[in-house]
Amino acid sequence: MSTSYDYDLVVIGAGSGGVRAARMSASRGAKVAIIESRYLGGTCVNVGCVPKKLFVYASEYAQAFEDSAGYGYRVDSQPTFDWATLRDNKTAEIQRLNGVYDGLLGRAGVEIILGHGRFVDDHTVEVDGQKRISAAQILIATGTWPTRPDIPGAELGITSNEVFYLDTLPDDAIVVGGGYIAVEFAGIFNGLGVSTHLVYRGEPVLRGFDREVRDFVSEQMAQAGVDLQYNRSLTKIEKLANGRLNVTFDDGGQTETGLVLFATGRDALVDGLDLNNTGVTLTDNGFIAVDDRYRTAVPHIRALGDVIGRVPLTPVAIAEGMFISADLFGDESPRPVDYNQIPTAVFCQPNVGTVGLTEEAAAEQFDRVEVYSTQFRAMRNTLSGNPGRTLMKMLVDAQTQRVLGLHMVGDDAGEIIQGLAVAMNAGATKADFDRTIGIHPTSAEEFVTMREPSRIVGRSV
Ligand code: FAD
Ligand code: NDP
Repeated sequence: MSTSYDYDLVVIGAGSGGVRAARMSASRGAKVAIIESRYLGGTCVNVGCVPKKLFVYASEYAQAFEDSAGYGYRVDSQPTFDWATLRDNKTAEIQRLNGVYDGLLGRAGVEIILGHGRFVDDHTVEVDGQKRISAAQILIATGTWPTRPDIPGAELGITSNEVFYLDTLPDDAIVVGGGYIAVEFAGIFNGLGVSTHLVYRGEPVLRGFDREVRDFVSEQMAQAGVDLQYNRSLTKIEKLANGRLNVTFDDGGQTETGLVLFATGRDALVDGLDLNNTGVTLTDNGFIAVDDRYRTAVPHIRALGDVIGRVPLTPVAIAEGMFISADLFGDESPRPVDYNQIPTAVFCQPNVGTVGLTEEAAAEQFDRVEVYSTQFRAMRNTLSGNPGRTLMKMLVDAQTQRVLGLHMVGDDAGEIIQGLAVAMNAGATKADFDRTIGIHPTSAEEFVTMREPSRIVGRSV
């Protein structure tokens, strides 16, 4: 390994991707330091996936109490919910995880340097304006930061960074946006008893997902009590004397609310990195431009994860980190990350789980696509009287019989689709699904018992 620099590798940002790249590289014998300005574990652990999922669990208890009556339970007094208990228990769990990350990095031999990193030149990083360290290789893993629309009073709204630490839960809230975070937090607020209004500039939510899934999610959200306001944008927020917010919309309407949560996307976190002291370049959207080995315009500076703006999901950042470590310090050239069939879930009620092509994309790319689609009331919802329904959908190339896409909206959809994604990646055909024996009684068995296509779509249809 190199001797003319302080380190073989310096990683800026101890989030999902940076931590994995640092640990793997150190375990391969490289001398590694990681610089972190806020919190070990990054967005996912501190203000993302993990606290979000804990809130999702919390938000589902109210419905469970209600559902239990049909199964014979009598809850003698109305269950009450205490926000401070949830928030503080969540924070304690996150602090435990921060310690776990500290231990993982330390045991791997990675030096942790707390502070803000910025480039002095393309081999030197300065931390908090003091310590300067040099490295043969530098990895930028600084993630993204939430954005707010450019409207008067935008600062009166909050983002996902603040929502995890609210002093009190409001009685009513407006969630702005129609992507992952908006849909998940609308579900969380609604489940926790907040009167929830989701305001989205388009229609329906979850652009980029399968259209039938999007419509179904909209229906289920509305049925669960979320007020969906489509094709509407906020133009102004003002603070009222009573502490509440007055919101004005582009159609001239006005309303009062206790909280506005902006879930309107995220920008690459490159401010303060002083990239101008290097030759690193950005894409038109402000993300760091990299090649297929995650090398920036300066080949010994690489970048991964959310800051490169490819697929902003934790397991993707981790896979990119593993590739980079193996590419830099491994014995054999690593397999490239496969971006084609990335499974993903949206943790709303019920969950969305999806892998592969949407019906719309499959119809554009293939001549004949068999669409197997079914909607039903899951057995759990029979005795409870819960009106929630489940959607399952499979797309098959009529010519090769290869499964092109799997989609589910229903309980545990994320768990179910994770397993089926392995089959998809192995190139499973409809016949492979057909000869697989189901597990009865489950919802998942529908995926191996759907026999007649609901319709055929495609270029030649
Ligand atoms: P990050 O995890 O963002 O880490 C970047 C780190 O760099 C941060 O710790 C930051 O403090 C640090 N940093 C930045 N600049 C500097 C600097 N100059 N010096 C030193 N340190 C710096 N993904 C999923 O797969 N599943 C989910 O359920 C999920 N839920 C999410 C929920 C929310 C509310 C949000 C916001 C995101 C969610 N994501 C989820 C996305 C996931 O969090 C990201 O894809 C993932 O964290 C990206 O990892 P990363 O390593 O690229 O960056
Ligand atoms: P998304 O890109 O998913 O959604 C952003 C939403 O904001 C879109 O509906 C977009 O509308 C809307 N929007 C953008 N700009 C404006 C504006 N100026 N005014 C009004 N609305 C606007 O981003 P999120 O912030 O929700 O999440 C970021 C990423 O984090 C996700 O893409 C996902 O990869 C990851 N994530 C993953 C989760 C999971 O795996 N379960 C959970 C949470 C986040 P339009 O559709 O019209 O562009």
